[in-house]
Amino acid sequence: MSLHSLYVDLNSYFASVEQQLRPELRGKPVGVLPVMADTTCCIAASIDAKRFGVRTGTPVWQARKLCKDIVFVQARPAAYVEIHHRIVAAVESCTPVGAVLSIDEMACELMGSDRGETNAIALGQQIKRAIYDQVGEVLHSSVGIAPNRFLAKTASNMQKPDGLVVIRQNELPQRLYGLKLGALTGIGRAMEPRLNRLGIHSVEQLCAASKNTLRQAWGGIEGERFYAKLRGEGVESAPTQRASVGHSHVLAPDLRDPGSALAVLYRLLHKAAMRLRHYGYCAGGLSLHLTYLQRGNGPAHWSDQARFSPHADTFKFNPVLAQLWQRRPPDPAPILKVGVTLLHLAEHSQITRDLFDPDDQHEGLNSVLDQINQRYGPNSLYFGGAHSGRGSAPMRIAFSHVPELQVESDG
Ligand SMILES: [Mg+2]
Repeated sequence: MSLHSLYVDLNSYFASVEQQLRPELRGKPVGVLPVMADTTCCIAASIDAKRFGVRTGTPVWQARKLCKDIVFVQARPAAYVEIHHRIVAAVESCTPVGAVLSIDEMACELMGSDRGETNAIALGQQIKRAIYDQVGEVLHSSVGIAPNRFLAKTASNMQKPDGLVVIRQNELPQRLYGLKLGALTGIGRAMEPRLNRLGIHSVEQLCAASKNTLRQAWGGIEGERFYAKLRGEGVESAPTQRASVGHSHVLAPDLRDPGSALAVLYRLLHKAAMRLRHYGYCAGGLSLHLTYLQRGNGPAHWSDQARFSPHADTFKFNPVLAQLWQRRPPDPAPILKVGVTLLHLAEHSQITRDLFDPDDQHEGLNSVLDQINQRYGPNSLYFGGAHSGRGSAPMRIAFSHVPELQVESDG
């Protein structure tokens, strides 16, 4: 049960989105260009173009030489961002997304029985299927599963396109020996010569190097971290380090009245509570944030929070949200943005149950709620108060992570 991380990397992302949106491009070599000019370079190449040796960064003239039938298209950043959000939602329908690392890469933390190999592989296949079914049938992805995120990302690079690779703890470090130094995240063009000067020219030599040598190469603690990551240590655990789980949402113009805003807040709370339970945590506090649309003087904020005995019960979070909501002063303007955060997290197993509330009667109900929403989509079963907010707060935890599109490379 040592598999802690699952990494999803879409293959030839920009070019695949073009092929998804324009079926006439499917199966053809496609180069995506930032502008339609002969002097520029491809920012992405379709899987078919890659077979001819066309890569991200290949100049247009060279791409034509390598592949005379290549079709060039101009990049459409807005479309790639929109599809990105749909892909994140598709992955979220299978398991919570722990971190969005780029427009086409995300990492999920494996919990409970998903840490076993059979379940982890089944989850990887389920995620690929969800992307095909919910977003697009030509959007292939490579999934990597490993003891930590660094190795899971490495695994996702080992089989393209449409890969699913597991790196097991007991295969370390030999499993990495076939890779080039530069294939490892964290070894860029500047680091490779530094390693060479220390006598390290291969991944095998890197794995054999002492902690001290790597410390020297990186010039500090980062070298020790790398040493640990290579060995499957250094598990990133999203909620424990942050000690909170929260969601916020900018309201559409027709939802900026108090009633709609509250309904959206309930929806966000229920999403946060579901993630909390998925991670096996309890929360000992809840905070509510409101941002008002203030024309002229910029947005005004209001927030408040409450503390309570730690639990993970949506039925008990609801009245806390209602009380905080009642505490707010008269709304000075339409509500632009709402947010809710579950605070003071602790692992479920470490909580001593509240003496005055010894039984958790809702545990079974919460668990059924989560299972249904995971299987049939995030809004299948919801609380009455969230009804009018349904659909307005899609699974979009990653929204803030991709504020701008980076078009240099899509790997
Ligand atoms: Mg990619």
